[in-house]
Amino acid sequence: MSQEPEQIVIIGSGCAGLTAALYSARAQLAPTVLTGAMPGGLLTTTSIVENYPGFPEGIDGTELMINMQQQAERFGANVKFGSTVEAVDLSERPFKLTVDGEPMQTQTLIIASGAGHRHLGLDSEARLDKKGVTYCATCDGALPMFRDQPLVVVGGGDSACEEATFLTRFGSKVYLVHRRDELRASKIMAERTLENDKIEMVWDSEVEEILGDDKVSGVRLRNNKTETEQTVECAGVFVAIGHVPNTQIFKEQLEMDDAGYITRIEGAQTSVPGVFVAGDCSDKVYRQAVTAAGMGCAAAIEAERLLASESQ
Ligand code: NAP
Repeated sequence: MSQEPEQIVIIGSGCAGLTAALYSARAQLAPTVLTGAMPGGLLTTTSIVENYPGFPEGIDGTELMINMQQQAERFGANVKFGSTVEAVDLSERPFKLTVDGEPMQTQTLIIASGAGHRHLGLDSEARLDKKGVTYCATCDGALPMFRDQPLVVVGGGDSACEEATFLTRFGSKVYLVHRRDELRASKIMAERTLENDKIEMVWDSEVEEILGDDKVSGVRLRNNKTETEQTVECAGVFVAIGHVPNTQIFKEQLEMDDAGYITRIEGAQTSVPGVFVAGDCSDKVYRQAVTAAGMGCAAAIEAERLLASESQ
């Protein structure tokens, strides 16, 4: 491990990671960004982002992330595509990382590892994954297997409403299965969904089993109020029930809550001095592109201030 430690390594390349990269690059710290397997993060799986300020007509999620990446690179960020952190040792500085089997050291670390899709946890869901079960309507909705077929979306938040509305372009009909009798989604999204003639709400219902041998043919639902069951025929099941933070590799090394969200002690500072956090991996309240970007900015400023105070 003879290489000089980096000044700043950023894990993740969503809004939080790339904004941290922009700010630390402009502070001439030449940050290294490890993108992980999904460069651009979850926003690349969204269609039009309508609530990121500065884009009155909205902007395509992937385009927004490519813009952020190029903006950070313009000031000297080193974006390593596909690089995945396998292990970390945060017991002393410089921190030690294992990245694609190779060692790396860094004086400060910004964790912006985001969150992944929550699963229902059914055996049939795992068995039929990519055979009609998917977690991303934007990515998979236009596949021929879903064209002019009935489709099921599971969830009651903004993601589920967005996916259901998007899927009405392709499916013959969309069933939105929610476990309660009221949507969690924002008012505007909920209204759009409830007014859409191609979406049929299935309230108070939970998926007991996804049916099909080599591809999805339907779902078996249980009404949790009446305890009755029904089968709905469909060619696809789009699971949109929220997210879980990508923080597994930091367990036992950083303070986090029971759900795995990394604790911020003060500002962007974690329980280990020199390790900062930003975005969905530490935020279960706001979870917006713009709040993630703001947290990325804060993390970069704090890392820069720490490094500056140590070099005096
Ligand atoms: P969310 O707001 O956490 O909603 C998750 C939904 O899934 C809830 O309705 C929840 O039901 C349901 N659910 C959770 N676990 C379940 C399970 N095991 N079985 C069945 N249903 C389950 O997640 P989200 O919709 O992904 O949204 C996350 C954040 O991103 C939110 O802040 C949202 O505003 C934002 N977002 C914004 C946009 C946009 O503005 N364009 C688009 C997508 C997401 P309960 O309601 O009963 O808890």
